[in-house]
Amino acid sequence: MGRWKLCVAALLLACLAACGHSSSSDGGSRGTAASQAAMLPAAPAADTTGGFDGGRAYKHVEQLVAIGPHSAGSEGIHRSQQYIISQLKSFCCPVEEEDFHAPSTPLGDVAMKNIIVKIPSANPNIILYGSHYDTKRMDNFVGADDAGSSTGVLLEMARLLCARKNAETIWLAFFDGEEAFNQNWADPDNTYGSRELAASLALSGNLAHVKAMILVDMVGPANPVYKREINSTSWLTDIFWSTAAQLGYGKVFVNDRADIEDDHLSFLKRDIPSVDIIDLDVPYWHTTNDTLDKVDPRTLAITGHVLIASLPELEKRIR
Ligand SMILES: [Zn+2]
Repeated sequence: MGRWKLCVAALLLACLAACGHSSSSDGGSRGTAASQAAMLPAAPAADTTGGFDGGRAYKHVEQLVAIGPHSAGSEGIHRSQQYIISQLKSFCCPVEEEDFHAPSTPLGDVAMKNIIVKIPSANPNIILYGSHYDTKRMDNFVGADDAGSSTGVLLEMARLLCARKNAETIWLAFFDGEEAFNQNWADPDNTYGSRELAASLALSGNLAHVKAMILVDMVGPANPVYKREINSTSWLTDIFWSTAAQLGYGKVFVNDRADIEDDHLSFLKRDIPSVDIIDLDVPYWHTTNDTLDKVDPRTLAITGHVLIASLPELEKRIR
């Protein structure tokens, strides 16, 4: 018990120290891989991308890849959870863990965990950002782009959003169990975490407050191309694509279309406006070649910049 208390006290002190330094704290996100970083294209300075630091987001991807494979129910996913939760607490984000069981996966009953940041505001409307953090169940698959990149982007979003006052209530959900346990994607063997959150929101009555759900997934490749995902809600897609065009990212957020099944469907099925931002058209998808070298800090920065810069328009639209 004494040891536990000591740990709690240490955590509190660490959090207080981090809070005291506000958002200017460097948070140790640089320096440990200086030699490797020198070989990478640098992310643009955060003050040119709405405060979103692509370098910090990349550092998260690096840490998640270093954990190794972390599919749902594996030993590695527990270390991913510890990493995500400890980072969120260091940003002083209010973190909730949604533990649940997926009772009938191809592997039988699997314990899973969604990690949810709930940033309160005076306004009950909820804007929900999401990313899965589990990797595909395959030997030696580390999933740098799928799902390291989007997890890194969401963590950096959390750092920014938890440190400021927001006009609307903002939730950031890190979903477990998006990937199918089987090699092929066949319902219902996928999207376990997002289905769980959508169901629990419906049960609690909070679903009616969720005015928009924004999913990011595979947002790391160099020269990314995000196509308009056809199941996504048009007005919501328009907000992100038009913001991107205004910022000069028209060649990244293009007007071609793609039909993609992903975690956003769990919310669309419950009539929540939702959008999926994803570049699935990469040769290394679901292969062991999805390694850290496939993730470009500049792409993380572009994606984060568009997410942050779209927020005022989104707030206006849902008010
Ligand atoms: Zn995947």
